[in-house]
Amino acid sequence: MSASARDRIEVVVGDITRESTDAIVNAANNELGPGGGVAGAIQRAAGPRLLEACEPLGGCETGDAKATEGFDLPARWVIHTVGPVWHGGDADEESLLASCYRRSLEVAVEIGAASVSFPAISTGIFGFPPNRAAPIAVGTVAEVLHETDAIETVRFVCFDEDSAALHRDALDKLA
Ligand code: ADP
Repeated sequence: MSASARDRIEVVVGDITRESTDAIVNAANNELGPGGGVAGAIQRAAGPRLLEACEPLGGCETGDAKATEGFDLPARWVIHTVGPVWHGGDADEESLLASCYRRSLEVAVEIGAASVSFPAISTGIFGFPPNRAAPIAVGTVAEVLHETDAIETVRFVCFDEDSAALHRDALDKLA
């Protein structure tokens, strides 16, 4: 892994709705409908136009990502991705989670977003063990950054210090 990919990754504790990166990523559901957790927070902060903009998108497959505007958010774009529900680890959860990070960054490149903030996808309501999710999140993002210069910065915006520590640890362990 090139040092430059690692140098473009930041880990912070915070509320992703306050991020002023070009895009923030939403941990959405397959319907791209009303949600709780980080999705609910993003929907409240973006205002009602966010769900209206999601309606014509026809939902989103697990592991895929689709963009809308950010409306009342500081971020210009919201990239909606659907993480896997944890079923014990034998249901392709790890590769689906990696796909969320990869597809979100591919969509970011398509819309011209050079800075992207991620929450810890699937680690809340969807039950993915946070200690298993963090190395997948950080490793996949580093891989994509190694492949493209179009993304300048990726921020992992963790809701608590425990989550941030897991992401920092994964970042330190990148080869
Ligand atoms: P999922 O359904 O994908 O598990 P959740 O929203 O339940 O999504 O949780 C994903 C992660 O987002 C959890 O670690 C949760 O603590 C965190 N989270 C919740 N609200 C916010 C927020 N406003 N900003 C950043 N992270 C958040």
